[in-house]
Amino acid sequence: MSRTTDELLSAGDRRNSPSYAPARMILDHGEGVRLYDREGNEYLDFVAGIAVNCLGYNHPRLTEAICSQAERLLHVSNLFYTAEQIDLMDALCERSFADRVFFCNSGAEANEAAMKLARRYQKVVAGKPEKFQIVTMKKSFHGRTMGAITATGQPKYHAGFEPMLPGFDYAEFNNLESVAAKVGEQTAAVVVEPVQGEGGIRPAEPAFLEGLRELCDEHGALLIFDEVQTGVGRTGTLFAYQGYGVTPDIICLAKALGGGTPIGAMMATEQVFEGWTKGSHASTFGGNPLVCRAALTVLEEIDDQELLANARERGDQLRRGLVALAERFPVILDVRGRGLMVGAECGEAARDIYLECRNQGLLINTAGGDTLRFVPPLIITEDDVEEALSRLERALEVSQSE
Ligand SMILES: *Cc1c(COP(=O)(O)O)cnc(C)c1O
Repeated sequence: MSRTTDELLSAGDRRNSPSYAPARMILDHGEGVRLYDREGNEYLDFVAGIAVNCLGYNHPRLTEAICSQAERLLHVSNLFYTAEQIDLMDALCERSFADRVFFCNSGAEANEAAMKLARRYQKVVAGKPEKFQIVTMKKSFHGRTMGAITATGQPKYHAGFEPMLPGFDYAEFNNLESVAAKVGEQTAAVVVEPVQGEGGIRPAEPAFLEGLRELCDEHGALLIFDEVQTGVGRTGTLFAYQGYGVTPDIICLAKALGGGTPIGAMMATEQVFEGWTKGSHASTFGGNPLVCRAALTVLEEIDDQELLANARERGDQLRRGLVALAERFPVILDVRGRGLMVGAECGEAARDIYLECRNQGLLINTAGGDTLRFVPPLIITEDDVEEALSRLERALEVSQSE
């Protein structure tokens, strides 16, 4: 190794986009649910690249799939088909309500595609050009492109980038009356995360999603679920909508779909996709054979290793452990989540606790500023969860004594 860790960190800080503030370590490799930095320190990873690395690190089957695919084809563009792309579209549609898939590279792009499709559907298929309004939720997060920050119902993501795009309105999450007051003849779509992620790990109440479905049907609006974080097993069903029993018209995926390779997807029914014709939308990299092969491997591993059941069981274990810790550490104000998407609200102390977790060899992050977020790989074991809880306990002891 040519440069020391300190030399690398200071070079990084000179060159990196100032919009980031990475931790003071340089990660080197990972194995299973553990990460190692260049100094040889070991970390139990409960952040998983922000809910991305669902199969952990150096997963034998995923690594083999990516390496063998790289020997055959990396990219061909959407001028051509590959078997990997077609197999993945089939696999996603067979496992969901959707009939067709649009591939892209990130969550923000999936949401952009969804909002473009919804507006075109209203104009072209429903014949209602007046229906262009998109209603989203306060405390939501939908990504960082101009459309996606406009959809994001948090002023801090808009600050300095105004004007936002026209045709958006914001309602209160888990408050059906608030949404009903915004939805009408002008509404093209309602966008919601079944569990708000960045906003603080807040699950929708089942009656709220059921009510949104009825409201959208009543007004001819499309219901879009942003499942960029909740999708692909995170909440204990392959898609969170299946756990709620409420089917959207459009679903957006990214994060965990490629097991760490960058792939996003926007899926909908045949009827909704009638809004698009040749040339309506495109992505150069979208659905290339490398990322499709990785995503297929992820879906196969979720089935073969029963990772949905694991997400439910390990999630219950983690929540039970957090509730027990909350009895001893009153700084934990609330424990929330579904499956392996778990939050522990800690108020202003959240940041200190999360930094101390790192000292104790546990990687997590925060959501909504006041909530510790736990989104480990779906392959996590019972022992891993116990180990994470005891490292968290030590972190809580240290922050309490300070
Ligand atoms: C992370 C996230 C996004 C943005 O995804 P990017 O890949 O960063 O563009 C959008 N929606 C939700 C719900 C997310 O959690």
